[in-house]
Amino acid sequence: MIPKASYDVIVVGAGPAGSTAAFYAARNGASVLLLDKKREIGNPIQCAGFLPDASEVKALLPDAKLPDFLEKYPDSCVLQQIKTQRIIPPNCSVKEFSVRGAVLDRRRYDQFLAEQAVKAGAELVVKTRVTKIEGTKVDISGFFGKHTLNAKAIIGADGPNSFVAKSKGLSWKPEAKETSVAIEYQLRNVDIDPDALEMYFGKYFVPGGYAWIFPEGEGRANVGIGIRSGMAEKGVSAKEYLNRFIRDHPLAGPKLKNSIIMNVIAGIIPVNGAPKKTATEDSLIVGDAAGHVIATNGGGIPPAMIAGKVAGETAAECAAGKCKLEDYDHRWREQFGSALETSVQARQLMDGIMASDTLMNAAFKFISPEQIKVMQCGKLPGAVKLGLQALNRGKK
Ligand SMILES: Cc1cc2nc3c(=O)[nH]c(=O)nc-3n(C[C@H](O)[C@H](O)[C@H](O)COP(=O)(O)OP(=O)(O)OC[C@H]3O[C@@H](n4cnc5c(N)ncnc54)[C@H](O)[C@@H]3O)c2cc1C
Repeated sequence: MIPKASYDVIVVGAGPAGSTAAFYAARNGASVLLLDKKREIGNPIQCAGFLPDASEVKALLPDAKLPDFLEKYPDSCVLQQIKTQRIIPPNCSVKEFSVRGAVLDRRRYDQFLAEQAVKAGAELVVKTRVTKIEGTKVDISGFFGKHTLNAKAIIGADGPNSFVAKSKGLSWKPEAKETSVAIEYQLRNVDIDPDALEMYFGKYFVPGGYAWIFPEGEGRANVGIGIRSGMAEKGVSAKEYLNRFIRDHPLAGPKLKNSIIMNVIAGIIPVNGAPKKTATEDSLIVGDAAGHVIATNGGGIPPAMIAGKVAGETAAECAAGKCKLEDYDHRWREQFGSALETSVQARQLMDGIMASDTLMNAAFKFISPEQIKVMQCGKLPGAVKLGLQALNRGKK
């Protein structure tokens, strides 16, 4: 498919943020090109695929206006419905609460979202990379050739190492950027609770992060870890931590001992929120590119799509001369900016505690399951904040 020479909106990256942005830009009358460097949308997967139900997202981010396909998507995208979430601190004294959501097949879900964008009028070009951006000129190169295109608005939905953010001076300075390194396996032949998410903490297995077991149905699971390299033991890689967790964890090990690795997935997760500025007069960043990830649990799909809707609507409005593209910045912050900032604050407080299993056990003893649940969505109850601050002070 040969692209045209110019568009109202060029969206770089067809993940949940980009496809949602392209859908809303096209639905609001803009001519839209959606590009991805991947030869197949959604493949390889870089996600564990858990998506809370819209009712959960609405309860926890009440100011957010949810995009259609965060609320409704085909059953064929669902690998497993989830009813329970379990938190396992280092001392294995399990806490659980109910949660409604699903583990999705991200490949199918990403393809579903990209298809909706095209049905709304966007043009999709795969296996094509953006190689240079100068002003509103975008150089692309890939299976369908090399082209220089022009756009009134460029949307950078190109993931945590965003080329658009770098080209437009919107990225975090490298020394200020904080990321979690994630590695996961898709396993078969596991002996797990089929509708419970499990999250494990403890510095021997997951320094500065957590390990997860997310069921994928039919004796399958996505099992992974997200760790902070700076908090890891010298010389121990993320892969070794994951293998150690599967082999030696006293609760998880027995469930996974006969498992077979079918797929290895790795990626990075931004955990320090959004940079100060997420838009210029001709470009904006969204999703992982803009640090739209709840820092306490690494959940990025809902914020990417909520901001994707704002991005697409604002870009279409801007292309029609009805607003400035910079308006995007305050529009998305009104919907979930403070939740994002609070999640970073909570993550920073947890970082201090994660350095010691004793402190972790103490923290999980006083934080109730309900409080854990709201913390995961960017809230920090006053009592929890005070308790975590006290634990942090106590360790000095
Ligand atoms: C191991 C792991 C597990 C995770 N588990 C969960 C989970 O269970 N639940 C959850 O909510 N979140 C999870 N996340 C986070 C979630 O995957 C991301 O937040 C989400 O995918 C962000 O969507 P996005 O559209 O911003 O970026 P992405 O999904 O990363 O999409 C970016 C797209 O841009 C394309 N691209 C990049 N550069 C270029 C270029 N120069 N030209 C053209 N295309 C380009 C890429 O190919 C990619 O398709 C996880 C992340 C990791 C790494």
